[in-house]
Amino acid sequence: MAGMSEVGRLFNNNELIVAEVLQSAEAMKAAVSHLERFMEKADTAARGKVILATVKGDVHDIGKNIVGVVLGCNNYEVIDLGVMVALDRILQTAVDKHADIVGLSGLITPSLDEMAQVAKEMERRRFTLPLLIGGATTSAQHTAVKIAPEYGGTTVYVPDASRVADVVSQLLNPAQRAAFGQANAQRQAELRERHRQRTHVLVPYRDARARRPTFAWDQPGIAVPCFTGRRSIDDMPLADLVPFIDWTFFFTAWELKGRFPAILDHPQYGEAARDIYDHGRALLQDAIGRQTIRAAGVYGFWPANADGDDIVLFEDASRQREILRFNMLRQQELTDQTRPLRSLADFIAPIESGVIDYIGAFAVTAGLGIEEAVRRFEEKRDDYDAIMIKALADRLAEAFAECLHARVRREWGYGAEEHLSGEDLLAEKYRGIRPAFGYPACPDHSEKGKLFDLLEAGRVGMALTETCMMTPAASVSGLYFAHPEASYFTVGRVGRDQLEDYARRKGMPTGEAERWLSPSLA
Ligand code: SAH
Repeated sequence: MAGMSEVGRLFNNNELIVAEVLQSAEAMKAAVSHLERFMEKADTAARGKVILATVKGDVHDIGKNIVGVVLGCNNYEVIDLGVMVALDRILQTAVDKHADIVGLSGLITPSLDEMAQVAKEMERRRFTLPLLIGGATTSAQHTAVKIAPEYGGTTVYVPDASRVADVVSQLLNPAQRAAFGQANAQRQAELRERHRQRTHVLVPYRDARARRPTFAWDQPGIAVPCFTGRRSIDDMPLADLVPFIDWTFFFTAWELKGRFPAILDHPQYGEAARDIYDHGRALLQDAIGRQTIRAAGVYGFWPANADGDDIVLFEDASRQREILRFNMLRQQELTDQTRPLRSLADFIAPIESGVIDYIGAFAVTAGLGIEEAVRRFEEKRDDYDAIMIKALADRLAEAFAECLHARVRREWGYGAEEHLSGEDLLAEKYRGIRPAFGYPACPDHSEKGKLFDLLEAGRVGMALTETCMMTPAASVSGLYFAHPEASYFTVGRVGRDQLEDYARRKGMPTGEAERWLSPSLA
């Protein structure tokens, strides 16, 4: 126990990295499980009880699991409720187990709303426990503006696992609690004030549409894919994906900042980085050899045209039958008078041009079978490998997206002569883009529903949660645009006028569209 406190202390001082903490925790757990049978009763002198959960609709849990292990090392009792946990279960468990703190995690933007709902419900049920907020899309600002005001108790944004032990210790220390809470509330009030002062100058939606970028459309200039319709890749060999892995993001998952491969020689944590890398590569080889996880995907091309800010997909080049329309959003924030205001629809030939254009779509996963693999590691109390396999599956899914995109450019013709180095490939220095719903150019996650229907992604084992997060978690999906000028951009804030038009186009009540777009609304 004293050894683990030392591990916690070193981690809090930045002298150990997350992976080393996990390895120490593993040694600790092995020792405890051996000793337990010689003890009369377990001596649970935990410093406090923390409930952790990934909120409803969200399945990502790498960061949460790391936080759980770090708290465990610091001698807190952690009750981890897992992923997709409904609000009521979180709060009821907090009551039943006499928890001291509730911690929520989430990866995608709809989870932000769910966290605000939990905060609101904590207020309604007269909770006073501190609430911790963490996960990829959360921020100090969002916590201050949208979550903390819902709840009278202390709500703290925790950016990563290295901060959590310190925050929890101050929150549970009677001598520090009040001062910590006050300083936290003070900081959040400042963030709210800063947020209030930020104004977004929006162009009316009608005018924004008139400022669209225009391209010269002619049929000979359009790249024609070698097939149309859907194709599935039922079993993608993992070994073929390895060369496409972007290892920089592997280290990001382990909370290590720096570019690969330079990170392996980092003066402070190079040795530890090499250790995680070697271990990751070994586990990857093992997963490939024993096929503990599998990859599959589906993609296709369809004749398409833009109709206003919608992209219409047709069954075939006769364009008699419309299959579906993706509803796109357009920039309305005026940054400079000369810049056009963009929408992804601009990169597809407008219907009135008379030209037949094409769009591609894809959904890939590398997480098939992962629950079983994770369960086996967890049974062996191997948190390190349980997290490692998820981090690797995420990498493989991204690698699959990159690899498939290269194939798509060849099949679309314009990429046939492409010769890019691995580095240039990862820097996406090729023609065309693959925007993903939920990202800045197309922030509405709910469009993924149509994408999955179009691709029949369910047939390769992929699905969406109620907030449109993909399962398995190690999945990537999006659209392909071939236009030479196509590039990523940020829609930014949209106005009420666009929201109403968008809801109408989508055939969705405005209130519901408002919920999906809430992170983008001015
Ligand atoms: N190589 C990285 C993944 C690339 S991230 C990894 O291994 O993790 C870049 C991807 O994010 C793009 O290919 C695109 O799918 C998405 N993306 C980035 N910016 C975007 C934007 N503004 N709008 C939509 N999608 C975007």
